[in-house]
Amino acid sequence: MLSDMKNNSRIQVIDEKIKALKATLITLGLLRPGSLSRQYHVCRKPGCRCQDPNKPRRHGPYYHFDYVHQGKKTTRFIRAGQLSEVRRQLLAFKQLRRLVDQWITLSLEKAERLRQATANPNL
Ligand SMILES: [Zn+2]
Repeated sequence: MLSDMKNNSRIQVIDEKIKALKATLITLGLLRPGSLSRQYHVCRKPGCRCQDPNKPRRHGPYYHFDYVHQGKKTTRFIRAGQLSEVRRQLLAFKQLRRLVDQWITLSLEKAERLRQATANPNL
């Protein structure tokens, strides 16, 4: 009986946690998988500063964003003015994955607790 109460109160806690996860999920907004990287380029213009033998100053930085979605790899160049929004979207995607993982963990625990309670009603 005591164990049964303990199980029920844990299930209540799990339900509350799942409810909070769902509330956070709907706040995420736009999201992007993948990663952002910075590049500097060397051009082909003769005598350009990027080819200076002593102190080459390459062009850039240029930012590009790579991701794989549904098996397809894509690269997009990102303008400096879009960087902070893209970074926010990348973080939102990571947060989505983390929240979904937590949701799965909690769901598995709840399902197992319900299964045990049904299999052994005297617990
Ligand atoms: Zn150059």
